[in-house]
Amino acid sequence: MTYSGLYSTDIIRFLQRHHYTQVHPAAALIDMDGTLYDSMKSHTAAWHRMVTELGIEADRDEFYLYEGRTGASTINLIFNRAYGRDASPEEIEELYHRKTVYFAELPPVKPMPGAREMLDFMAAVGMKRVLVTGSGQNTLLNRLDSDYPGAFLPGMRVTSRDVKLGKPHPEPYIRAMQIAGVSPSQSIVVENAPLGVEAGDRAGAFTVGITTGPIPRKTLEDAGAAIVFDSMAAFANALPALTYDLIMTKIDR
Ligand code: MG
Repeated sequence: MTYSGLYSTDIIRFLQRHHYTQVHPAAALIDMDGTLYDSMKSHTAAWHRMVTELGIEADRDEFYLYEGRTGASTINLIFNRAYGRDASPEEIEELYHRKTVYFAELPPVKPMPGAREMLDFMAAVGMKRVLVTGSGQNTLLNRLDSDYPGAFLPGMRVTSRDVKLGKPHPEPYIRAMQIAGVSPSQSIVVENAPLGVEAGDRAGAFTVGITTGPIPRKTLEDAGAAIVFDSMAAFANALPALTYDLIMTKIDR
C-alpha cells in the first residue's frame, strides 16, 4: 500500500521535479538571518541608511529581496543601478563596514522563536546541522554558540568567507553538503529569503521556505520552495511529521 501523509503531496511534487525516488534527510542546512535570528528588520534598516547617506535613492523593503547575497554583491547591485559600474574593492570594504556599524548600533536582535525547538529535534533524530549564511558579520556569528549551544560544530559553518559565489548560486549549499558528507537528496534546506530558497533548490535539496518578514509565501514558492511555513514555530511544530513523511514517501521510477 502506498504511504500517504499530510505532506506527501508536496514531497511527491518535489521528487518528480528533481527526478528523485526519495528524500532521506540526513543533514539540515540552515540559513541564519531571518531564520535563526529575527534580524532582517535591522539589516534592511542598516542597508537603507548606508545607501541613502551616499545620496542613492532606495526603498527600505527592497533590501529584503537582496537577502542572501554577499555584502559585496548587494553593494555592486546598488552601484550599477546608481553609477553604472561595480564598486572597487576599497569601496566595498568601507561601505560594508559602515553597514555593519549601523547594524550594531541598533538594538540587539533576538533569536527567532521556534528555531531552538527545530534544532533540538534535528539533534534528537541524528540529523547533522550546518549553518549556511551569506553574512560575514561577526555581530551575529559570534552569538551562535551562546544562543544555540552545540548546534553548529566547528567546521559546520559556511559563511560569506567560504564561497566565491553567494546565493542565489547553489555554491554555498553544495559546499555545506560536502562538509556534511551528504548528497542533495539527503539534505533539507531551511530558508526565509527568495534568493536563499533558489540556491537551496538549485543545489537539489528539499528546500523549506519560512515566511518571517514581508515577503509573501507565493514568492518563496516561485523561488523553488518544496513547502512553505508561515513561521519558524509552525515549522518546528510540523518537523516531526514532515520528517516522518519524507522518510515514508517514495515514488517508483
Ligand atoms: Mg535569511
